[in-house]
Amino acid sequence: MSEQPPSDCFICRKHRGEISIPGGAIYADDLVYVGHAQIREGQTIAYLGYLMVEPKRHVPDLAALTDEEARALMILVTRLSRALKATENAERVYLFVIGENVHHVHIHVVARYAGAPKEYWGARVDEWPAAPRGGTQEMEAICARLRVYLQKESG
Ligand SMILES: [Zn+2]
Repeated sequence: MSEQPPSDCFICRKHRGEISIPGGAIYADDLVYVGHAQIREGQTIAYLGYLMVEPKRHVPDLAALTDEEARALMILVTRLSRALKATENAERVYLFVIGENVHHVHIHVVARYAGAPKEYWGARVDEWPAAPRGGTQEMEAICARLRVYLQKESG
């Protein structure tokens, strides 16, 4: 499969502000970006506390990151894990890197909430029917809480 040019890449376009997502950037700098995952096609609500962390640069996978990008991504993921626990009462925070569909590397950062049955632990966590879900408003609210937490922490 040929590499998608950054001009067509959904993630690059989002970073450039050509596409807006509910809640917007929770945090962004020259190297990294994080926002809430969007409502999936065919669904009307989203699993809340499902974040996407991406390098600003269009690279296909973790192997292509510079050390500087890797450090920035992991520091952000670590802070987001703390933020999800503090503001959303996440019991555990999962990270996934899959990358089969979108060839701009992105780290899924996903809250698991108390009460999630064991059958939904791990990669199926967002399939738990009783998980917190919401639309644009709830996603915006979560992003605002996380933004405040990150700003306070970086002081
Ligand atoms: Zn891209």
